[in-house]
Amino acid sequence: MLQSVFCRLSRIPRVRRYSAAAAIPAPSTQPDIHFNKIFINNEWHDAVSKKTFPTINPTTGEIICQVAEGDKADVEKAVKAAKDAFKLGSPWRLTDASARGLLLNRLADLIERDKAYLASLETLDNGKPYHIAYMVDLDLVIKCIRYYAGWADKYHGKTIPIDGDYFCYTRHEPVGVCGQIIPWNFPLAMQSWKLGPALATGNVVVMKLAEQTPLTALYVASLIKEAGFPPGVVNIIPGYGPSAGAAIAAHMDVDKVAFTGSTEVGHLIQQAAGKSNLKKVTLELGGKSPNIILSDADVNFAVEEAHTALFFNQGQCCCAGTRTYVQEAIYDQFVEQSVERAKRRTVGDPFDAKNEQGPQVDEEQFNKILGYISTGKKEGAKLLCGGEVAADRGYFIQPTVFGDVKDEMRIAREEIFGPVMQILKFKTLEEVIERANDTKYGLAAAVFTNDINKAHYISHGLRVGTVWINCYDIFGAQAPFGGYKASGNGRELGEDGLAAYTEVKTVTTKVLKKNS
Ligand code: ADP
Repeated sequence: MLQSVFCRLSRIPRVRRYSAAAAIPAPSTQPDIHFNKIFINNEWHDAVSKKTFPTINPTTGEIICQVAEGDKADVEKAVKAAKDAFKLGSPWRLTDASARGLLLNRLADLIERDKAYLASLETLDNGKPYHIAYMVDLDLVIKCIRYYAGWADKYHGKTIPIDGDYFCYTRHEPVGVCGQIIPWNFPLAMQSWKLGPALATGNVVVMKLAEQTPLTALYVASLIKEAGFPPGVVNIIPGYGPSAGAAIAAHMDVDKVAFTGSTEVGHLIQQAAGKSNLKKVTLELGGKSPNIILSDADVNFAVEEAHTALFFNQGQCCCAGTRTYVQEAIYDQFVEQSVERAKRRTVGDPFDAKNEQGPQVDEEQFNKILGYISTGKKEGAKLLCGGEVAADRGYFIQPTVFGDVKDEMRIAREEIFGPVMQILKFKTLEEVIERANDTKYGLAAAVFTNDINKAHYISHGLRVGTVWINCYDIFGAQAPFGGYKASGNGRELGEDGLAAYTEVKTVTTKVLKKNS
């Protein structure tokens, strides 16, 4: 998935990039692990089962530490704590809206205080380059929490002129207990996207972390307590999807579930909601996003942007520009330059500032991506560079480019979630719109052109939630993000992101005639 900011580093001219990097504090390459348990009621708990699971450093394949493995029993405890915290008259329910904003701002301050530590921990657990974690992920997290802090006392209802002698108004009330299930590709950013709107609007939360990357979000749990949120308002469970995640989705006392992850699991979440209590569901799922380069575009610029659109975050973004459609007049030049750029991409130790790319998150993803590379070769796509493992330990994969890709190939239809670029050729605008839309997904897209008419013609024709014109991965907490079709339900970020966390209550009062 993500961000304006994602590309920001690549856009900083080379000289400025180094001076910008110089402003980043040195990482801690072996950050201390302070928290590895379940966070319920502002306290740390072992799993009811006493089980633990290892979290792995993807750079080495070695275990970082053991983490408490929450499952259904721990979800029960967490939901009970959240329900208690949400009772009428509880400290949280009596907290003024403006004070919720203050708490969120305090949380942002604490994250800012510990930014270098959190970025180091994210790099250790996830494998993303430290300078990106620091400058991009943490920047997004802090801005997102501050943005929603600002909304806390501003997202209000209306007075409505219904017919008759009535005074009618609406209240935006919290939904209640919100289950939030987050992925591993942007652990901190996804946590902030979920917590920000939920807490600004007065909800209580039971969050399930991705099993691959539990450490940073657990540290943020300690900051939530330090900021002064009452016990039970936020409860955080590390654990596996089919046990802890499924228990949240099926729970009768969870009022809403927000999920970010694969489309396959998105189906399961929606089914579980339907089979249990019809809890509200928002889903931010997979994509196979088209990145359309017209022949009038500045080729050098488009090559660099398309490179980042695909390879950013080791290719592990739900909105990555994975189908690069290039108009035939510039196809050969674009392919040649893209291959040259991919060969220059620096891969290695994510704590080393010279590296643009770290390891894939885990062995499962690593093997899946290598499987797709071999499928691409078998299907007849032209492997132009990469395609191999990039180190003798850890989960590193060479930046890989396939040319002559056809729409029906699996590598053009399925989400690879790795550093594997597919370049396809097209002739006309109508053709490329139709081909770009011929997918079950509809998350994002981009158009590169110097003709504003063509840019808007194409962007209006695309059935996707976000279109970038002459840019890619431009994110801001202020702008909504989400998918059409099988890429999801609902929107996160922006004002639209608040709707999923509020119920609208209509209150109507008869205005009695005054006795004269
Ligand atoms: P990926 O394939 O990229 O790991 P997933 O959709 O499997 O993406 O995982 C995203 C999040 O969903 C993780 O927190 C994971 O543990 C959780 N998850 C996986 N399976 C389920 C499930 N059956 N029910 C609920 N959550 C799940």
